[in-house]
Amino acid sequence: MQVKQIVLSGIMEYSKSTKPQLIKEIQRLNDFIQSNRQKADILHKKLIAEADAIFLNSVEGIFITDSRKKIIRVNPGFCHITGYTEEEVLGKTPSIFKSNRHDKKFYGQIYESLENNGSWQGEIWNRRKNGEIYPQWLSIIALVDKNCADKEFLAIFNDITNLINKNENIQSNAQHDSLTGLPNRLLLHDRLEFTLNLARRNKRVVAVLLLDIMRFKMINDTLGYTAGDALLQILGSRLSSSIRDVDTVFRSGDDEFAIILDDVSEPEAVSKVAKRIIETCSLPFTIANRELYATVSIGISIFPSDAEGHEGLLKNAEDAMIRAKELGINNYQHYKPAMNNRAVEQLTLENDIRKALMKEEFIVYYQPQVDLKTNEIVGIEALIRWKHPKLGMISPGEFIPIAEENGLIIPIGEWVLRTACSQTEQWRKQYKKGLTISVNLSARQFLQQDIVNTVRTILDETGLAPKYLELEITESLGMKNPELTLRTLKELKQMGIHISIDDFGTGYSSLSYLKKFPIDTLKIDRSFVSDIKTDLNDTAIVLAIIALAHSMHLKVIAEGVETIEQAEFLSLHDCEEMQGYLFSPPIPAMEFAKLLEKQIQTQ
Ligand code: C2E
Ligand code: CA
Ligand code: CA
Repeated sequence: MQVKQIVLSGIMEYSKSTKPQLIKEIQRLNDFIQSNRQKADILHKKLIAEADAIFLNSVEGIFITDSRKKIIRVNPGFCHITGYTEEEVLGKTPSIFKSNRHDKKFYGQIYESLENNGSWQGEIWNRRKNGEIYPQWLSIIALVDKNCADKEFLAIFNDITNLINKNENIQSNAQHDSLTGLPNRLLLHDRLEFTLNLARRNKRVVAVLLLDIMRFKMINDTLGYTAGDALLQILGSRLSSSIRDVDTVFRSGDDEFAIILDDVSEPEAVSKVAKRIIETCSLPFTIANRELYATVSIGISIFPSDAEGHEGLLKNAEDAMIRAKELGINNYQHYKPAMNNRAVEQLTLENDIRKALMKEEFIVYYQPQVDLKTNEIVGIEALIRWKHPKLGMISPGEFIPIAEENGLIIPIGEWVLRTACSQTEQWRKQYKKGLTISVNLSARQFLQQDIVNTVRTILDETGLAPKYLELEITESLGMKNPELTLRTLKELKQMGIHISIDDFGTGYSSLSYLKKFPIDTLKIDRSFVSDIKTDLNDTAIVLAIIALAHSMHLKVIAEGVETIEQAEFLSLHDCEEMQGYLFSPPIPAMEFAKLLEKQIQTQ
């Protein structure tokens, strides 16, 4: 009811209204419009001023083109990034910035997006005035003026060189070893796969070399990580400079490097590279005014003969490297397939073994036995090697069983005994050191030959006093023929020779025999030593062997000691001596002499 009245009174008022009133009303309306226009003008000017400030002060480069893509305005940011002045670009089209990194299709997509969506945004490579190509993050907007049918284009861009570099750095850090700057294991897999793909297509031969630095842990442990790091850096650069440009060196592990040799002509060429690398690595390293020597082992596998894929190739190179390590320092080995042709190979080996003695292809390597308390070399184990003319170094694990089977172990064993005794006597005289030589005797030698006489003759010939000779036999020997064993051992013992039980813990020993046999030393097998710190069973076995030995007044020596932790554990539990890669692998006589000299100098 009330609303109706108001409306009605309004209508009545309007009908009663006079002309002056109407003019007044129009005047009021006009004032309102004028004042708003001023406000709009002020707002407009403000906006333009703000846009100008942004345009002039922005670090981004900004330019505007007309509908024909001709540049009509640029900001100082543009000049700073591109190197062009405004005059130099006005009237030109953005094609003057082209880097030639993108194809027609790329630019076509930009125009299409501007046409359909009125904008485009993305990464683009452009060229500065000085010719340098750089990446930009570019946004383009089509500006449509209501009064003007033509479009203008506003382009805003950043120079993202730093961003990209940073990204690449992050990526590169993940794929490179920060110490040596060499590509790492991750990249090794990628690169090898890539190289093999090309090699397959072009029927090329590729070789992979894995190089392990022996005793690196000892360098780290005794001289500190800084010395270890310096050694790795120098070694890395020596390796890089001993290969061709097309080849690549990687740091594939803590103390391991890998090398890909692309397009090799023949396995002999790879052997040559391996030899060269070994030579370079054996030059002294001067670190913190000290001369250090590094020794390396190299395993080689070749595509496509040893494996077709990159994983198989790396695995085989590793197998070969392990063999090289077993054969002593500064050694390289080609991968040998896992003997599915074993029988054929054995046959030829058997024939070869017969000739090897005459042809003087056997060598004795020497591995130091070290006093765990003083770290001094107190003994040596003689370990045979066979330098086969075709197959390279062959480890005793491969030919001793054959020689045992065919009886050749008897002359071979005699030769080892003579060589080792004569060498030791020479060192003893030269260095005036009470060294003991341990020689392995196989069951056949012990049971079939008149071993007592052979030993006596050899000691006479070489002049070595019997107390410096230790013969290593295995537990199983005593079980084969206990009476003969006991008799022989007693005779040897009477001569003053020492007896040790090798690989103790792996065979079946009868403690009652053990008690009867006149033995001096127990050698803890390396299978127990290797897991001493991780496998509680092995820890218990090692402790039990030490306790057993000591209760029988026997000396204990641990084999296969590879880490400082193992050595510390053994020393803590009163094991007397150790033998293993931690101190030194088996090495040729010349190198062993150097080791002795070094030790004498530091005493
Ligand atoms: P073994 O008598 O038990 O010799 C110790 C083996 O352990 C050696 O292998 C030695 O190179 C290796 N070794 C030493 N320290 C380490 C280490 O820290 N880690 C690892 N993983 N291995 C280590 P090698 O020289 O290959 O000899 C193998 C076996 O061949 C010998 O085992 C021995 O039974 C036999 N053998 C070697 N030379 C002769 C010999 O002149 N006559 C006889 N009858 N047998 C021999
Ligand atoms: Ca042995
Ligand atoms: Ca052993």
